[in-house]
Parts: sequence; structure tokens; C-alpha cells
Amino acid sequence: MTVRTRIAPSPTGDPHVGTAYIALFNLAFARQHGGEFVLRIEDTDQQRSTPESEQMILDSLRWLGLDWDEGPDRGGEYGPYRQSERADIYQRYAQQLIDDGHAFYCFATPAELDEMRQEQQARGERPKYDGRGLKLSADEVKQRLDAGDPYVVRMKIPEEGSFRFEDYLRGEVEIPWQQIDMQVLMKQDGLPTYFLANVVDDHLMGITHVFRGEEWLPSAPKLIKLYEYFGWEAPVLGHMPLLRNPDKSKLSKRKNPTSILYYKRMGYLPEALLNYLARMGWSMPDEREKFCLEEMIASFDMKRVSLGGPIFDPEKLDWLNGQWIREDLSDEQFVERLKAWAFNDDYIRPLIPHIKGRVERFSQVAPLSSFMFSGMTEVGEAQFESLRLPPDEVRRVLQFVSWYLDDLRQWEKEGIFAGLKALAKAMGLKMGDFMAPVFLSIAGTTSTFSVVDAMQLLGPDLSRARVRHALNQLGSVSKKEAKRWEKEYRNLER
Ligand code: GLU
Repeated sequence: MTVRTRIAPSPTGDPHVGTAYIALFNLAFARQHGGEFVLRIEDTDQQRSTPESEQMILDSLRWLGLDWDEGPDRGGEYGPYRQSERADIYQRYAQQLIDDGHAFYCFATPAELDEMRQEQQARGERPKYDGRGLKLSADEVKQRLDAGDPYVVRMKIPEEGSFRFEDYLRGEVEIPWQQIDMQVLMKQDGLPTYFLANVVDDHLMGITHVFRGEEWLPSAPKLIKLYEYFGWEAPVLGHMPLLRNPDKSKLSKRKNPTSILYYKRMGYLPEALLNYLARMGWSMPDEREKFCLEEMIASFDMKRVSLGGPIFDPEKLDWLNGQWIREDLSDEQFVERLKAWAFNDDYIRPLIPHIKGRVERFSQVAPLSSFMFSGMTEVGEAQFESLRLPPDEVRRVLQFVSWYLDDLRQWEKEGIFAGLKALAKAMGLKMGDFMAPVFLSIAGTTSTFSVVDAMQLLGPDLSRARVRHALNQLGSVSKKEAKRWEKEYRNLER
């Protein structure tokens, strides 16, 4: 048997370090067994999936050196590798489940289901689908299908007993069926949910081992039950621990940058980031901290993954990156990497229109644009105190701007500017007063070229991180304050 593993990202946002982390362990496991590693795009959520996000995920994983043998970009004998191109396959399998009595039609409208849940809650029960679709007679179902009524397809779930399975990393896991809902497998739009598509694809693509994030553990019963319904052998499942912030909370972009692009933009070496991710819950037999992918594969043992939530600590990553830079790059290579990072035409060329009109000598270029080649800006309280707004108002502005930027999907300057203007107006602030702290956070000074131009060029990850960094410099936001501000922010009329 050839070992086949996969990474199956949903292209619904920035390329997350968690995706790289899971990809790395699946890749190492496959390579160690002389197997294959597949990349599959799970884009059945048509509302949230975008081609841009898919491209960024592919580029980021490739930048890290996590190469796949088969995928949407390189094909393979089990394609297509993008779920949106496999709709007819899922239709067929959903029909098979219905014909075999393992799944059923449900015509309940969202309003009906809301009412059902409210009644359950009023009775002090845990809200759960009550199986109403199962009560329809075959004739009724036919009539409603003929009438073209919208429906979803749900899977049957045993009512009694417990589900047990052997997790590759956790040993025996037991989950009572009572806790499991009759999962929707096909949505009204005729596309499958994660559950059906994931099972069908893992089977058809010959995946033998699935290592996925711990957050998917509660869905294991449904997945394995589906394999059983189809009469297929389920792959070995193992649930990896979640990456955590230094305060032990789940790694989230509100506390730490989570996008791989941020780390690239900050000037980390891909080898170092990969090495750091490999250290998350895993260690070399000799406990050495610094090692490359090949060394990891040569000594890999999946069973040695420890399950306590590994802490993703940017300071440790800095240390490791420094080691890589000093020990592994010759001066020649240093120059090459630096060029590839930001000292190249692609990066510098778009800066020129903003700089050219402001300089009389080339020697002014670096001071004027140094913030475009740095990480966090070195701004402190003193600079913010010289602004017109009082310190607390400055913090409030930065917090609101940070929330605004976190939610912004399209990153282009007109949109950013329009949004900031609307925010200033809604907060009752003059645009100049409102923008000054933003300017300081992004550029470290207010005397340089337009801050929205700078934000566009710096990109979302670094811009967001700088605003958050400035806010932290000014004193962190207390829970109480955050709650009050969040309410105000939500109620702003924009
Ligand atoms: N599409 C899922 C995700 O985005 C895949 C989960 C799995 O590996 O099964 O995480």
C-alpha cells in the first residue's frame, strides 16, 4: 500500500500558518513512508471561497517548500483536485446514500428550523435537528420533489450508544451519538458540505492517512459513519494539537499575525519558519532545535507528536530565524535573499511615484522610505502625545481602525480610504485628527507620502500588524474597555 496524505485547505481567506503546520506533518509522514502528498482545494462554500485566496495558499505553501505531488495546479490521476469541479461526483454519491436508506431529503425551511430550535431551548434541551424529514412518506417526498420544493440531504445518525474510534495520536476516542446532529450533506445549492465532499474525495483519491487539526475531532463520528455507509475503509485519522498564542488561547489573527504572507513580508526565511512549525509539538530525537525538512523527514515519527497545545511564540521564531541567517547564508546568499525579499524592481518600482516628487538627492530616498523596508514601526507614547487627540481617543481610533482593517477583504487604496473616511465621520472626528495616529502607526512619522498609498503597498498583513503594535505600545486594551468599544464600534452608523 502506498501511503497517501493530503492537505485540503478551504480558500476563504489569508494563507494561515496552521495550514502550513498541518501540511508539513502530512508531507513528512508521506515522505518518510515513500508515499505521496496531495493538495486538494475544498471550495464548496461558494460564498466565501475566492480564486485569490486559493492562489495565495498555493504560493505560500510553495514558498515554504511544502511541495505536493498532485494538485489543482499540477494535475494527477485522481483529479480534478478542486471540489467545485467535482459537483456531479458528489451528486452521484449523495443519491447512492439516499437509495440505500442512509440519507434523506429534508424540506424544512430555515424559519421552521429556527422555530424548532427555539422550542427545544424553551424546553431546556440542546438544539438539534429532530429528524422531521425522516417522517415524510415516500409519496410525500416524491410530491415535493416534483413540485420543485427546495431541499437539503441529511445523513442518518444512530440514536443510541457511542461512537468509538482509534485516533492515531490520541488513542481511543469515544463520543456519544446523542451529541451528533443529522448533518446536512448536500445543500440547497446542489453542492455538498465539507462532510460528504471530504469523505468521497479522500476515498476516491486513495488517501490512506489523514492528519488534521484538533478542531475537526467532533466531526470524526460523522465522517467515519459515512465511510461505513458507503462500505469503504476509512483512512487512519489523527488529530493534531491546535497552535496557541503565548497566552495559551487559540492562535488568532486578533492577537498574533497568522498569515504566512505576514511572515514572508517581515523577512523570515522559509526554512526557518518551516523549522519553527516542525518544532510545534514535535522534536528531533536529539532535541536539536535547528533542522531542515530533509532532516525532519529522515528522523520523523508521527507518534512523537505531543498533544499539549504548542505555543507559537514570535520571539522564539525570531531567535531561530537569526540562527538560520547567521549560520546558513553566505554573504552572497544573504544578498540574493535580501533582493528576493524587497530589494528588487517589483517592490521598489511602485514606490518611486511617491518618492520622486519629494527628493532632491538620492541620499534622501532611504530616510523617506525606510518604513517600507522595516517590520514594526518604532513609535512610542511621546510621538502620539504630540497629536491633537487625547491619548485615550488615540487608542480608541487605533482599535476601531484595527477592527476595520481586520474585516476588510479587498485591499486597494480607494476602498481603504473610503472606509477610513466613513469611520472618522461616524466617530465624529475630523479626518486629519483621525488619520494622524494611523499615519504614525504605519509610517512611524507623519511627514512622508500618503498613508493609504503606503498601506496598499505594505499589504494587509503588515498594515494590520503595525496598527495593532502601535495600540499595544500605548497600553493594552482592557477586557472591559474592549467590550465597551466593540459595542460602540458595532453601533456606528457608517
Ligand atoms: N477544508 C478543511 C479545512 O479547511 C479540511 C479539514 C480536513 O483536513 O479534513 O481545514
